[in-house]
Amino acid sequence: MRLPKNGEEIDIPATISLADEFVHQGFTYFDTAFVYPGSEEAFREAVAKRYPRHAYTLANKMAGWMLRDDFGPEDMFNESLKRCGVDYFDYYLLHSLQPSRMAAYDKYDCWQFCQKKKAEGKIKNFGFSYHGDPVLLEEILTNHPEVDFVQLQINYVDWEDNVIFSGRNYEICEKYGKDIVVMEPVKGGILASMNPDLLQKFQAIRPEATAASYALRFVGSLPKVKMILSGMNTLEQMKENLEIFNHFEPLSDIEQNAIQEVTAGLRSIPTVPCTDCRYCCKGCPKGIRIPDIFKAYNLLLTFGEHNRPHFYYSGLLQEGSGKANECIECGQCEAACPQHIQIVETLKKASALLDQ
Ligand code: SF4
Ligand code: SF4
Repeated sequence: MRLPKNGEEIDIPATISLADEFVHQGFTYFDTAFVYPGSEEAFREAVAKRYPRHAYTLANKMAGWMLRDDFGPEDMFNESLKRCGVDYFDYYLLHSLQPSRMAAYDKYDCWQFCQKKKAEGKIKNFGFSYHGDPVLLEEILTNHPEVDFVQLQINYVDWEDNVIFSGRNYEICEKYGKDIVVMEPVKGGILASMNPDLLQKFQAIRPEATAASYALRFVGSLPKVKMILSGMNTLEQMKENLEIFNHFEPLSDIEQNAIQEVTAGLRSIPTVPCTDCRYCCKGCPKGIRIPDIFKAYNLLLTFGEHNRPHFYYSGLLQEGSGKANECIECGQCEAACPQHIQIVETLKKASALLDQ
């Protein structure tokens, strides 16, 4: 998803260097998706055309929200095979299950479709990636015992988060006996940069350790985790990651305590107390996705300047949200907010950082 770029295009020579280092050190798992622009083709050029099929495993994902009556699951699946230059997928996922996306997967019977492909040998392992709450996850796993694995957003700072639910979703997969693939172990790169006081808690135990190494070792220490997608995109990051997993050491009790202290430190930084209830959104005449903008703003408050919140914010605007600075101060949202957040003033502060 985060391959190196040369301008707007994926940098194929740089991607080949990454793929070669990865494969030559004995690693095999590649992850792409129908909706990652250029990613499937980059995989074909960097890996499928250059390595025998047994040298790698490939995960791909069906984007249910892009299915249409004249472009169904079979079309999307075949298009992905063609773009990737393979004739089967080792792992195939329904992409990004969450309440708003369930209907499309049911409408086109993607569950049954994937079982058919599995019987044909075109899918070896079937799963889904998930961005919802524990209640829906439990419902899906009850209704679909055919699922082999689940891809979850897990990192230590989101372990007890009441929007991401890393810990509770992990426990549900454990209860249902599902293997877990982890995405966002470094929270989009955010947990790789740490304020010096908090980093010191890690380095007091291991002086050479980076913040990223603790984030990766945290997820690697969870027993049900079978695969970790680190989102690395430079040779330097890759070398560090390969070193960690070539000589993997689970976190010790002392290091687990340091993780708790760092999490508490990060959570003690004052942020907007938005609970994402979204009562404010419906009546906004400018279509401003207030809680999502607060999420981006909170990331900046907690972790300092980082491209991740800006990337997230620009994604919101592309999806049609009004900008933070488009607020006309009608006050409708503040009347609806059960947390009594001064939304207008907070949007101004968020705008000062995000709308530049
Ligand atoms: S005050 Fe601003 S953010 Fe709130 S509803 Fe009105 S336009 Fe939207
Ligand atoms: S109503 Fe308040 S708490 Fe709920 S999403 Fe909007 S800003 Fe957040």
